[in-house]
Amino acid sequence: MSVKKYLLSRDRRTAMEVGIFVAVTQVFTFLLVFYFRISEVTYLSFIPVICTAFFFGEMIGLFFGIAVATCFSPLLIDLSGHGSPAWVIRAFGYATVGLVVGYLGNVLRHYLRFKENVRVTDISTGLPNRQALCDKLTELSASQISGHFAIVVIIISNRKILSETFGNDVTKSIFNQFKDKCAEFTKKMNAEIETYSINSDQIAFFFRKNDENDLESKEKFEDSLMSIAKKNFLHNGFFIHADSRLGIYRFSDFSEANFGELPLRYAEEAVDIAVKQMKDLVVYGPSNLAQNAKRSKASDILGEIDLAIRSRWMFLVYQPKINMATGKVNSVEALIRWNHPVRGFVPPGLFIPQAEQSTLIENITDFVIRQAVLQLKLWQRSGIYVNIAVNVSTYNLLQPNFVNKVLNLLKEKDLPPECLEIEVTESALIADFQHVLDGLNRFHDAKIKIALDDFGTGYSSFQYLQRLPIDYLKIDQSFVRNLGTNRESKEIVKAIVDLAHSIDVKTIAEGVETITDYEYLNNVKCDIGQGYLMAKPLTSNAFVSWYSENNGVYTPPLATKVS
Ligand code: C2E
Ligand code: CA
Ligand code: CA
Repeated sequence: MSVKKYLLSRDRRTAMEVGIFVAVTQVFTFLLVFYFRISEVTYLSFIPVICTAFFFGEMIGLFFGIAVATCFSPLLIDLSGHGSPAWVIRAFGYATVGLVVGYLGNVLRHYLRFKENVRVTDISTGLPNRQALCDKLTELSASQISGHFAIVVIIISNRKILSETFGNDVTKSIFNQFKDKCAEFTKKMNAEIETYSINSDQIAFFFRKNDENDLESKEKFEDSLMSIAKKNFLHNGFFIHADSRLGIYRFSDFSEANFGELPLRYAEEAVDIAVKQMKDLVVYGPSNLAQNAKRSKASDILGEIDLAIRSRWMFLVYQPKINMATGKVNSVEALIRWNHPVRGFVPPGLFIPQAEQSTLIENITDFVIRQAVLQLKLWQRSGIYVNIAVNVSTYNLLQPNFVNKVLNLLKEKDLPPECLEIEVTESALIADFQHVLDGLNRFHDAKIKIALDDFGTGYSSFQYLQRLPIDYLKIDQSFVRNLGTNRESKEIVKAIVDLAHSIDVKTIAEGVETITDYEYLNNVKCDIGQGYLMAKPLTSNAFVSWYSENNGVYTPPLATKVS
C-alpha cells in the first residue's frame, strides 16, 4: 500500500497499529545512532515523534511527543553530555513538534481526501462516478478474481425534459430509487451491487456474485431489471416516467477480453445500440465483440493513412464507364487501392468508411483528385481523351474551400472542368442537406458533372432529385446484379431509367457482370454501363493497353443485336 493510500485509508488507528509503528521508527532511530556512531542523539529522537504524528494526527502526535520527552529527555541529557536544556523544556519541544506535525499531517490528509473525492464522486448525485468504477474494475483485474459479474448501464433518454419540468435533482431522485429497487432484487439473488453515476444521464450497476451459482438466468435478470425500469418513479409527489434504455454485459473473469474498464465500455456500447435501435435493452454478446475487434483493426490502420499516401502505398485504379449506345468509353471511375507492406491489400471498405468519420478523408480525397488530374493530363499527352470520375464524401462537400481547391487544381494543370466528374452517395445528402447542396451547386456552376452514387440503397427522396443539380443517377449494383433472376429488379431498373430520363438525368448502371445484364440495360435505354463484363478496375498502364486494344470502343462478347 502506498504512503498516500495508507494516509487516506482510515481516520482511526488501532493501538496495536500505532504501537508497531512507534516501535519500528524507534528501532530505526536507534540503528541510525549505533550505525553512524552519532553521539548527539537528542535531535534524532524527534524522528519517531515526527513520523508518528504525521501518520496518526495531532492527538497521537502530542501524546507521543510528551511520552518520548518524559521517558527519554532526562536520559538524553546524560547521554549527550552537552549540557542540553532542562528536560522540561525539551519535553515541551517534543510535544509541540508532535502537535504541529500531526496537525499538518491532518491538513494534508484532508486535502488529499478532498481531491480523491472530487476525482471519484459525481457532484450532482453524490454517487461514485465513472472513474470510481474504472478504478474498481482495474483493481479487480489486477487481482485476477473470478466469479459472476454484470455491468448494467442505464440511460435516461428523456432526462433533459424531466430536468426542465421537475428540476435538476430529478435525476438524482430517479437514480436513487433505481438503486434501492435494484438492491432489493440483488439481495434475493444473494449478490452484491454497487452503483455509479457515470454520466449526467447514465447510471451503472456493478453486480457481483462470488459463489459458484451464476447471477440469475439471463432472461430472469433482464426481466427483473426491465420491470424496475418500466415502473414509474416518485419525485416530490409526482409519478415520473423515465425513458430508460439498458445495456448489459455479463462476464465471469477479468481475462484479456475483460481487462480493466473494458466491461464498462461494452455495457456502454450496448446502451448506445439500444438508443440507436430504439430497443429497451441490449445485451452485449460475442457478435459485438467480433465487430469491435474488426473496428479496432480498422482504427489501427487509420493512423497509417498519411504515411501510406506519402509512401505511395496508395494508388488509383480506373474502371471504364461505357456509353451503351456507342460502346465508347465515356469516362473512367478512379478507385483507391492500398497495398500495405505488412498487411497486404487493404480493401477500401475497411478504411474509407472510418476515414469518412474523421478529417482523414480530406487527405484521401485531395490525394485522389490530384492523382486523377495528373493521370488525365498524362493520358491526354498520349492521345487518350476520357473524363475521370472521383468519389467525394460529405465531409469534403462541407469544406468551404473544397470547390475552389478542385477548380484551381484543374486550372493549374490547364484542364477544362468538364473533364472531371464527382460521385456522391445518397447518404451524403442527409448530413446537412443545405450545405451539401451549396457545394454541389458550385460544382455544377463550374460545369463539373455530378453523379448520385449507389442510387436506390439509401434515403432516396424525390425531393432530392428535384433540387439536386445532378447529371447522372448511378443505379446501385444490388439491382443490376439480380437482373438475370429477379423480375422486380428488372422493373426497378427500368423505372429508375425512365424517371431519370424524364427529368433530363442520364443513368449509369454499375456492377454489370453478364452479357444478359448488358443487353437488358441497353434495351431499357440505360445510358452508361460499368462493370467486370467490360473491364475490372485497371492500373493506369493496364487501362492504356485495354483502351488501345479496343480502340476506345467496347464491343460486347456475344453481340446479339438488341432491338
Ligand atoms: P463505389 O463508388 O460504389 O465503387 C464501385 C465498387 O464496385 C468498386 O469497389 C468496384 O471495384 C466495384 N465493382 C465495379 N464493377 C463491379 C462488378 O461488375 N462486380 C462487382 N462485384 N463489383 C464491381 P471498390 O473499388 O472496392 O470500392 C468500394 C467502395 O469504396 C466504392 O464504392 C467507394 O464507395 C469507396 N471508394 C473507393 N475508392 C474511393 C475513393 O477514392 N474515395 C472515396 N471517398 N471512396 C472510395
Ligand atoms: Ca462511386
Ligand atoms: Ca456505387
